[in-house]
Order: sequence, then C-alpha cells, then structure tokens
Amino acid sequence: MNERIKSAAAFEEAKQIIPGGVNSPVRALKSVGTTPLFVRDAKGPYIYDIDDNKFIDFCMSWGVFILGHNNDKVSKAASDAIFHGSSFGIPTLAETTLAEKVRESFPSMERLRFVNSGTEATMSAIRVARGFTGRDILVKFEGCYHGHADHLLVSAGSAVAKLNNASSAGVPAGFTQYTVVLPYNDTEALEKYFAGNGDKVAALIIEPVACNMGVVPPTHEFIEATRKVTQEHGAILIFDEVITGFRLSYGGAQKRFGITPDMTTVGKIVGGGFPAAAFGGRADIMSVLAPEGPVYQAGTLSGNPVAMAAGYETLKQLGEPGVYELLEERSNRFLSRLEKIVEGKGIQVNHVGTMFTMFFNDQPVRNFQDTKKSDQERFARYFRNMLDRGIYVSPSQFEGNFISLCHTDEILDYVLKSIEESIE
Ligand SMILES: *Cc1c(COP(=O)(O)O)cnc(C)c1O
Repeated sequence: MNERIKSAAAFEEAKQIIPGGVNSPVRALKSVGTTPLFVRDAKGPYIYDIDDNKFIDFCMSWGVFILGHNNDKVSKAASDAIFHGSSFGIPTLAETTLAEKVRESFPSMERLRFVNSGTEATMSAIRVARGFTGRDILVKFEGCYHGHADHLLVSAGSAVAKLNNASSAGVPAGFTQYTVVLPYNDTEALEKYFAGNGDKVAALIIEPVACNMGVVPPTHEFIEATRKVTQEHGAILIFDEVITGFRLSYGGAQKRFGITPDMTTVGKIVGGGFPAAAFGGRADIMSVLAPEGPVYQAGTLSGNPVAMAAGYETLKQLGEPGVYELLEERSNRFLSRLEKIVEGKGIQVNHVGTMFTMFFNDQPVRNFQDTKKSDQERFARYFRNMLDRGIYVSPSQFEGNFISLCHTDEILDYVLKSIEESIE
C-alpha cells in the first residue's frame, strides 16, 4: 500500500485552474473512484509519482511507448533535434524521411501527411474522403473512438463512453446529421445499410481492432465485409490505426489481417512520445489535398522536427528483426496464464497481440452493448487494488492495456500474482 498524499494535494491545486484538474478527462480517474497520480519520471515499464512511489505501467501513455518509457535513443534523438531549432514552418528533411519510413511499413499509405494528433488525422482523412468522393455520409461503428471532432462524437468509446454521454454537449445536431452509426461486428447490419445507401457513403471509418471500448477484436467475416461493401459502392475505407499501427505488427492491423484500406491514420507510437500523427492513403485520393487539390488542411506545428526525430528513432528500433515476435511471445505467455487465472471468475480477457482488456462480465464481449454490461463497480475495485500493489492498469473498463518491450517475463509474473490477489 502506497501513500499518495502529494498527488492528492497536486490534484486539488490543479482543479482550481484546469477543468477537472486534467487536460484529458480519463486522467481524472473519476470512474474508478480515486484521484490521479502526478508523475515525476518514467523509465522502461515504470512510472514514478511525486510521492516517490513506483508503479508498473500498463497504460504506457495509451499505447504510445511500445519500446518502454523514456527510451535512451529516442530521448537522445529528440533532444539532439531540439538544439537545431524546434519548429520552422518551413520544410525539413526529417519529414520526408519519416514519411518514407511510415510508407515502408504501411505500403497502402502511398502519400501521407503529418499532423499533431490522432484527432486531426481522422478529421483530415474524412475531409479528404468527402472531397474525393463528393459524398457526405460517414459510417462509423458504435464504441469506436476516432478523436474528439464534432461529427465523430456519436456513440464514441474512450472517455466519452465513461462519461456516459452518447454524444457530447456543444455539438449542434446538424453537425452529426451525416454520421451514421452501426454496431461493431454486425456484418448483416453493415451489408444491409450499404445495400440501401452505399452510393451516398463517402467513407467508412473503423478501428480494425476496437481499443476504445476496451479491446474488442473484429470477426474475420466482419472486417472482410468492411472492405467488400466499400469497394462495391465506391466508398473510401479508412482504417483508424492510431492505436493499432506499429502495435499489432510493423504495418498495423491491415498487415495482420491482410486487408488493404484506401486510407489509414496512425498516431500514438509514430510520434515516439511527441505530438505527431499521420493520415494517408492511395495517391489519387491524397492528391485532392491543397496545394495540389481543393481540400484544405494545414498545421503550424505539423511535421515538427522534434517529433519527427523521436518517431523515426522509434520506428527504426521497431523495424529491427524479431521485435514483434518477441512482443507476441511474451504477451501470449502472459495472456494465456491470465485466462487461466480468471477462469470461472466472471471475467473475459479480450486480447490481440500486446493489447488486452479484462472485462468484468460473464458473457463474451463482441460489441459496445456487450461492454456496457460489464460490472464497472467491480472494475473500479480491481483498479484500486492493483494501484495499491504498485501496478497502474488502464483506468477504465473501456480502455486497453499495453505490453511493451520492457515488460519482462519477471515483471509479468509479478503482475499475474497481483491480479490473482486483486480479484479475490
Ligand atoms: C487515441 C485515438 C485517437 C485520437 O488521438 P489523439 O492523439 O488523442 O487525438 C483516434 N483514434 C484512435 C483509434 C485512438 O486510439
């Protein structure tokens, strides 16, 4: 049991000036009935708070740090870049270099552009798809989260799910009139909608493995159908790989599933811990962007040289042979043991590769309606028990946990033991 006195005081102070004390709602830990840690340092699999407690981290900045926190070479690449000047608003070589590196792993991104966040990446990709097709309707799936743009806050997962808003206040009804929401993993509903309306659809956007309602993998049939119906009706298929890109393989979910979308968004890992994300796709589609075409999109800090340097060093390490094999091997061993531990305890372990969620739920979890039936009170107790044991799991039933290269078998064994004790 650790004391978190300084963090509690820091949170009170933050609340006086920052709404809810946080710059992103899930960080407030409201749904798990406690208050946040204030982080002082992080290294490898560990975070250290301002009360000098040490925690094994499974949130990893929401999946950003697949190499572990504060990787020596990534931190050095970023600090070297800073001393050459941290932003110019003028092109740099680092942007082309990282773009080529991204395309090497995601061949479907024939052309791509960098932005500062996943929110910007999805928002821009959708605008491009609409500009290219001349159509308005966007199809998304219930429980998928694509950032906080107005027209995407419809049945969205992540913190939106936790706050129990189907949507958000402050979004005029007219802004979401072209957003159509379908249930995840329901091939029949998808085919039926496209059969009736497919020729009006600009784009279908999907998390190819849903991670923002907790981890929910697609069925093979369903993910194949997203490609088939969009192709048949001339709609753009956008894989939102902001989490899954560079996590599920060096080439994301699309490589893992062998499906080629028309457009892709990547974020989180690609910036190596700095604000960077990218959207891209077929060259003919991307050519509608200004200055080549009529679709406007811009950013003062886009392609920021510090972020490009950190991203490049991250991808370089991830591209080395055996990295993903090692990650899978460790994760599989951990997750199969975890499945045994929770057997008969009313818990479902959903997982793909290095991502997993423990749903406190008697039944299999295949879509947003299933996730919502989970016992959030039990999850909250589990979260607090783990925290007391020095383990920071992702602080919501509707989020994923992320295993990094720094989560050794020894650490994972300790975590398994703690999970076993925590759920008793
Ligand atoms: C995190 C996330 C986003 C939003 O990215 P931000 O950088 O937080 O704006 C979009 N889509 C998915 C799938 C995400 O996981």
